[in-house]
Amino acid sequence: MTFHYNFGIMFLDVIVLKIKKVVIIFFITITIFTICFFLFKPNFYLMNKTSEVSEEYIPKVKVKNAFFDLSSKVVIDNLVDNDKIGTYKIICHLNYFFLSWEKTFEVEVKDSQSPTIELIGPQEVTVCPSKTYEELGYKAIDNYDQDLTDKVNVLKSKDKIVYSVKDNSNNEFTIERKIIYQDLENPVINLKGEKEITIYQGSKYTEMGYEAIDNCDSNLTDKVLITNNLDINKIGEYEITYEVEDLSGNKGIAKRKVIVKKKPTYPKGDGVIYLTFDDGPSNLTSQVLDILDRENVKATFFVISANELTKRAYQSGHTIGLHSNTHNYKYIYTSETNYFQDLKAIQDKVYNVTGYRSMLIRFPGGSSNTVSKYYKKGIMTNLVKEVLNRGYNYFDWNIDSNDAGSDIKNSSKIYSNVISNLSPNKTNVVLLHDASNHQATLKALPDIIAFGKSHGYTFKAITDDTPVVRHYVNN
Ligand code: ZN
Repeated sequence: MTFHYNFGIMFLDVIVLKIKKVVIIFFITITIFTICFFLFKPNFYLMNKTSEVSEEYIPKVKVKNAFFDLSSKVVIDNLVDNDKIGTYKIICHLNYFFLSWEKTFEVEVKDSQSPTIELIGPQEVTVCPSKTYEELGYKAIDNYDQDLTDKVNVLKSKDKIVYSVKDNSNNEFTIERKIIYQDLENPVINLKGEKEITIYQGSKYTEMGYEAIDNCDSNLTDKVLITNNLDINKIGEYEITYEVEDLSGNKGIAKRKVIVKKKPTYPKGDGVIYLTFDDGPSNLTSQVLDILDRENVKATFFVISANELTKRAYQSGHTIGLHSNTHNYKYIYTSETNYFQDLKAIQDKVYNVTGYRSMLIRFPGGSSNTVSKYYKKGIMTNLVKEVLNRGYNYFDWNIDSNDAGSDIKNSSKIYSNVISNLSPNKTNVVLLHDASNHQATLKALPDIIAFGKSHGYTFKAITDDTPVVRHYVNN
């Protein structure tokens, strides 16, 4: 029994021991297996969990276990819409270690960029001290929320304006505009009339006017101060100074030059009248010559052509002067060369008809003409010198019959214009015209001659001995 008993006990002991062993082995296996599992298990990491909106999102996923980097084996489902703010998923798949692994991450697409405000106009504005700043405008743009101009908050204070705006993701932007109250611009004085004027000694200077304008204080004309050292009785050059100051102390200045010239003194006349006829010969020339012949009056013809009538005039003792071949202001006053070419042409024509080389000139428009300014500045100044250098003589006039002006059809006005200006104490050079539309001149001529004769005048043609009558040159 004991044996049995002992055997029975021993048998039990063996069983228990076996079970213990199995259990221990089991737990060791489980432990090893678990350790292996965790050593070989892939771990997923997402390096970039946020993305800026509208920028391309490329997930940076790393997969590792204790031994290997498995990142290159991962397949990713990228569900991110990078054009829209939001939270998205990416799903990572990996087949490894006889298993399929999967890991889902969340990615946030954010707007972290600030909007910007663009100021219209400068960031530093200068405003007249007397005025207030008027908003020049602005524009607010956000990369994601687009136009935010309506949401701009404008804060005005005395010397600056602060513009701020927030986008829907609470990104903020602020910009300042500085306001400087000052007037740095000088007022401007605009002179009316010429900036340089010439007047005769002893005559009166008349102010032609001026206007003073300021950027801030508008019209300052009343505040202009005028100073000058003008002595109208003394020949010389003078300056009239116009000065004005605005409310900020900026000064404006303008100057006008006044040249006081000697009054032209005509050589003492001897009761002679020099009738001069411009622009012929014409269909009236023969009648003009008839009248002059009948009255035994000598005159001067400044011609623009030459024909038999020119020859007749020359042979009757009248003087033939040179006016122009073309009488085209634009041509003759564009260059000195043109002028002399034209002069030579009319001189040749006269020579061919009369055999006489005339050296007497009358400039188209007179030497005082201003029309030549449009074609060449200073040309008259050059021409009057140059014609004298070349041995020519030129005459203007001191009595204008106005027969080429408003009185062209009015013979009694032409008559009175002439006779009212005659003086026994001057060289009376009378401007008349010999051209087809000057019937009124023809009609007035006998009366002018009659008046002259009855008042003790004699009529002569201009010669080299005639005291010159010349205008002041204006160009
Ligand atoms: Zn003319």
